[in-house]
Amino acid sequence: MPIAPKMIVAGNWKMNGDLSRIEEFRKQLSHLSVVEVVLCPPSVYLSSAKSDNYAVGAQDCSEFLSGAHTGDISVEMLKEIGCKYVIIGHSERRQDHLESNKQVAAKVKTAIDAGITPIACVGEPLEVREAGGVFEYVGEQIQAILELCGDTFFSSSVIAYEPIWAIGTGKTASPEQAQEVHAFIRKELLKVSEKAQMMSILYGGSVKPDNAQALFAQPDINGGLIGGASLQLESFKKICQAAN
Ligand code: PEP
Repeated sequence: MPIAPKMIVAGNWKMNGDLSRIEEFRKQLSHLSVVEVVLCPPSVYLSSAKSDNYAVGAQDCSEFLSGAHTGDISVEMLKEIGCKYVIIGHSERRQDHLESNKQVAAKVKTAIDAGITPIACVGEPLEVREAGGVFEYVGEQIQAILELCGDTFFSSSVIAYEPIWAIGTGKTASPEQAQEVHAFIRKELLKVSEKAQMMSILYGGSVKPDNAQALFAQPDINGGLIGGASLQLESFKKICQAAN
């Protein structure tokens, strides 16, 4: 019986990488005993990325199960090719594709219903942090998911707290800043279910080999969602080891 949330390190390649990089990771990203490693390449590479050493995750899914939604990918399709995880509501999707809290919640529910673990992303822009509105902003993102998913959210979901001002900027939240929001998220979740005690809450935003350990040492930080540093095998490996 586990006594703490699972440590998870997920690499979000965004729209980067190619088949040769997939091959490099598939051959050389070795299994780690304690940490669940997840590789999230662009969707066209998901099938090629499969390995016994790590799990594979998509970067998005449709909130619909099938139909006239050109360019979208359903959770059943992801499941069929062996995806265990799907990142949902990444800030780049919220910004570039105008995904609302409601749509993100619908996608999370679709993933849960299909048996795929959603990595539900939340996080505030800089102006919200500067105005002192972090808890309210992140709280609303979480509430939208809880309202739609209820108790089912606690079956296998993962949350990633990614302050937008820290994504791809080189500005990491300090371990204390990140822990403060992670503790808030867990407190909000605990109001709904005791199972929140075991939910993995990942931090994302300029995690690198040299700052990973201090972040992962925080009591409510249970791993990371890694963008830029997940594209280089050696740096991604070091971050995974920092969580082990
Ligand atoms: C991300 O894209 O989820 C991310 C955290 O990016 P980076 O690590 O590059 O800041």
